[in-house]
Amino acid sequence: MSCSFTVQKTANPKPKPDPNTLKFGQTFTDHMFLMEYADGAGWHDGRIVPYAPIPLDPAAAVLHYGQEMFEGLKAYRAPDGRVLLFRPYKNAERARNSNARMCMPDFDPELFVGAIKALVDIERGWIPEKEGTSLYIRPFMFADEPFLGVHAARHYKFVIICSPVGPYYDSPGGGLVPTSIFVEREYVRAAAGGTGFAKVGGNYAGSLKAQAAAAERGCEQVLWLDAIERRYVEEIGTSNAFFVIDGEVVTAPLQGTILPGVTRDSVINLLKKWNTPVSERRITIDEVFAAGKDGRLDEVFATGTAAVISPVGRLVSAGETLNIGAGGIGALAQRLYDALYGIQTGKLPDELSWTLAV
Ligand SMILES: *Cc1c(COP(=O)(O)O)cnc(C)c1O
Repeated sequence: MSCSFTVQKTANPKPKPDPNTLKFGQTFTDHMFLMEYADGAGWHDGRIVPYAPIPLDPAAAVLHYGQEMFEGLKAYRAPDGRVLLFRPYKNAERARNSNARMCMPDFDPELFVGAIKALVDIERGWIPEKEGTSLYIRPFMFADEPFLGVHAARHYKFVIICSPVGPYYDSPGGGLVPTSIFVEREYVRAAAGGTGFAKVGGNYAGSLKAQAAAAERGCEQVLWLDAIERRYVEEIGTSNAFFVIDGEVVTAPLQGTILPGVTRDSVINLLKKWNTPVSERRITIDEVFAAGKDGRLDEVFATGTAAVISPVGRLVSAGETLNIGAGGIGALAQRLYDALYGIQTGKLPDELSWTLAV
């Protein structure tokens, strides 16, 4: 598949934001990628155009029944000037699985990665260089067919936008920040047979209520438990969750309710390379608290593209607070962050061939 897209450059480039005050996802670059899908015609009219609102028919299916999916990855500038993407074919593979679950059309992974590369190439001047900053890339697809019947739409848009970002959690020194996590027992994120493994907006809309309740209790995120028994730990907010107990690293298995994070997969691969015991198995919140009380819970951390590795300092559950380790940054979380961030930014050798230069 050839990836040639038409390019219309902006006549009014925007000023670049100050890299010292960058937050997450607040400013957007000069251009965006757009492509159409129509039944019969397939994906067509891929183009890079000035960043602008997208006109939408009020009857567009996505506005009513939420038929959409999104992805997230980052571009970093290496010390030698190269622009690096991190494992973008993993995002393409996951996006295809999300589309299949949402009855949205399939696509060639080369089209997906080719579109990202074409846009990032044009926006290279927008990639901030300061430590901890990057260009966040948000590909997404949605049903824009104007029709109120409930069935899979016959027309879609594929869009990619980019945002220069700073650290996900505010950190005075620019390093990792230990978070407080609320163990959620009322609301659930995903049930087997549902859409938990797909990266779709509906999962996020359904999680906001719990997120707001956690914030009221002074917690950054929630720890989701399984929907059936409300015992097994699943994910932390919109990241994958890891628990280090007696030197063994445990994370929930991919059985349909867990989002298969690229960072999760990378962490598991690094741990295996380091000969650190790592298991994908179910573990209950009671086991986690018991290990914490016995002094066997060494670390808890979350993984995801936005924050890479996010150490957990406290778990809060129904009136009980568990401080993890010394409540600071665990040694393994720090080592994983340094290794992953080093590879992503081209500062460490890429022995697993994870980066793709644009
Ligand atoms: C995106 C996401 C993750 C993290 O995936 P990465 O590919 O590592 O960024 C984890 N959980 C949920 C629910 C997500 O949406």
